[in-house]
Amino acid sequence: MVKLSRFAHTFEVDGAVALYHSLRMKPVYLSRESYQSLQAWLASSFSDDFEHAPNEIKDEVQLLKKWKILSDKADEDDRVLTFIRDHEPEPAISVCYMILSEQCNLACKYCFLGNNDDEKRKHFNLESMSEENASKAVDFFVKQLKKSGLDFEKEKPVVIFYGGEPLVNYSILVYIAEKLTKLQETEPCLQNLQMSMVTNGLLLNEERIKKLIDLKVGIGVSIDGFTEEENSMRIDRDGNTVFKKILEKVSLCQQLGANISLSVTLSEETVKHREHVIDLVKKYGIKGFGFNIMMSSDTFVLPESYNEAAADFIIDEFKELRELGIMEDRMLRKLDAFSKAKVYYSDCAATSGGQIVIAPNGQVGICHGCLYDKKYFVTTIDDDDFDCKANEDFIEWSKLSPVNKEECLDCPALGICGGGCPLNAMYSKEGNTIHSIDTRFCVHAKKTLNFLIEDLYRVMQERSKHSE
Ligand code: SF4
Ligand code: SF4
Repeated sequence: MVKLSRFAHTFEVDGAVALYHSLRMKPVYLSRESYQSLQAWLASSFSDDFEHAPNEIKDEVQLLKKWKILSDKADEDDRVLTFIRDHEPEPAISVCYMILSEQCNLACKYCFLGNNDDEKRKHFNLESMSEENASKAVDFFVKQLKKSGLDFEKEKPVVIFYGGEPLVNYSILVYIAEKLTKLQETEPCLQNLQMSMVTNGLLLNEERIKKLIDLKVGIGVSIDGFTEEENSMRIDRDGNTVFKKILEKVSLCQQLGANISLSVTLSEETVKHREHVIDLVKKYGIKGFGFNIMMSSDTFVLPESYNEAAADFIIDEFKELRELGIMEDRMLRKLDAFSKAKVYYSDCAATSGGQIVIAPNGQVGICHGCLYDKKYFVTTIDDDDFDCKANEDFIEWSKLSPVNKEECLDCPALGICGGGCPLNAMYSKEGNTIHSIDTRFCVHAKKTLNFLIEDLYRVMQERSKHSE
């Protein structure tokens, strides 16, 4: 019998019905009448063979068959799932977070690293990364790139200077960037290297900005929104807000021609005011955005309504920003997966087993969110033999994709989700582990899928109007 796949989901879209296989990821749009005919045919004894589909929906049925939404084979779903799981990439390092210092000059109220918490702050190393460790860290990363087996003519290795606040150890940032640039002359794996820094911006000055431009280090400034009020949780250690000072630095970057992007932590206040994003883009010529959904922690708890509001904000801003030619990173990755009908296995490089985090003392870990207790820090930069493909923790993290979670298999967003942040999943509820679901993220993933299916339908309708 011809049947709907267990991975098939239906969506109401502007007068039509979309049928969508969550792992084959190509929506098929049917008029309501066609959908009713389909339902009637599937419920009838004539659905024993594709050949017996009613004439008026023959074309639609062929499309539904092509995208595995309909199948007459009992094991089709299992075969699709096995294929997807078999093609999940194994751990292969291409991203390195260089933690130049675990110390931060701010104490944001929601900081997931724990820099706002006296007890957790004690765990952070006081010593910044030394030149000796920086040199070894670069060599370690290059070795990992070579062991990865990735094709670096296509893949871009990425180094992200991070903290704490990376600019508290500016001289070592320059040292590493210069060393990597020099190595590009001899190491083919570094040819397409991309370097960037995530900073709160306060320690930027004219000389440093010019040097960063020179070194081709992208500047990602983290803020919480676009007004003083929206940034009220971004405070220094004495409790003073810093938004005005950050804007002065953003303005200086703009005057000096630096290509800056904003990494925006979406505070509850920020998601209430959509209009402010566009104002800021226009005023400061911002070219890139990344929106970060806030995480709950034991020191900072968010209301339930926040997840919905943040998910809506990201979608609405995506629509507005794309009109200006700006694509927000998180949405862009999902759009990319959707438009190529290619399963998006993980939403962060840690869960693809593709990332190392190097602490100032030379410890090497998987996720920078674990800096304060060094959980999942599995080796050091002195370990010449380290191979993430053989490391149990890396393998465990690389299998955290929703496609491996029974609870996710019936979710429509399975193919575009990537699973969010395992740390957030772990901290959001007592007894959770990195294998738990990041429910904060589910809201975003499901709403995004609805948007993508509706948006594609809108584009198809417009195209067919123009071609008439
Ligand atoms: S697990 Fe979470 S905190 Fe860690 S790198 Fe991924 S998204 Fe970031
Ligand atoms: S993590 Fe949530 S949104 Fe993602 S596939 Fe699982 S249930 Fe769906």
